[in-house]
Amino acid sequence: MFENTRIVLVNTSHPGNIGAAARAMKNMGLSRLYLVAPKQHPVYEAYSRAVGADDVLTNAVVTDTLADALNGCVWVAGTSARERMVQWPIYEPRECAGLCRDHSVQGDIAIVFGRERTGLTNEELEMCNGLVHIPTSPEYSSLNVAAAVQVLCYEIRMAFMSDADAAVEKTRTHKEDMAATTDQLEGMYQHMYQMMQDIQFFSGSNPEVIMRRLKSLFNRAQTTKREVAILRGIFSAAQGKKSARVNKL
Ligand code: SAH
Repeated sequence: MFENTRIVLVNTSHPGNIGAAARAMKNMGLSRLYLVAPKQHPVYEAYSRAVGADDVLTNAVVTDTLADALNGCVWVAGTSARERMVQWPIYEPRECAGLCRDHSVQGDIAIVFGRERTGLTNEELEMCNGLVHIPTSPEYSSLNVAAAVQVLCYEIRMAFMSDADAAVEKTRTHKEDMAATTDQLEGMYQHMYQMMQDIQFFSGSNPEVIMRRLKSLFNRAQTTKREVAILRGIFSAAQGKKSARVNKL
């Protein structure tokens, strides 16, 4: 299960934080680090902070976009220094680690960490199934990003070690009833958008707002592969019907 966990750092400015995050991961038995457009990488300062976790840094996967780093994941948690009033469920680290364990038997899961100054954008949070907030003093809620990585990796280790058998039990699920991956959902969103254009659903309404709400719905619902297939069948039928109607006119 440790091997199914990705730690994703978005747009990190300070290489020292990347090194410290790599060390925090290795201490807890995790090794799959993803760096989305890091400001500087690889540099000495990161290696000097990583100390014995230099292998985690060397093997880190560098991507241009968050979507690339999350490609193939079945469950994604975004971290937030704030308790936002938004449509995402907000978990405490222990709860989040339990969900990571449960989903990791079906495929890769990821925890995403934001920029030092500005955190994650709404667009990035929309790619997540839930948010995790480390409860802090309300007077100063923002941890150093590598410290936040440490807290989550610790909870993941505890969750994975405590209840591995229960999680493995869930692998008996039929393949089609397993969670759809991020790229399967992305394909579905594109199809849905095209279908809604075709049936002229958007007239007078803002497509972006509607798509954002729908994505949030599917992220919360933990859509399965079978459900994606059913929905895409419906979208195709709606598109087909539309052209049949046009033909009749
Ligand atoms: N001003 C930014 C703070 C970013 S802190 C904001 O409000 O979003 C940099 C990163 O560290 C965050 O994106 C998150 O990944 C992590 N982090 C910091 N404090 C956290 C907390 N209390 N809970 C969860 N993650 C936290």
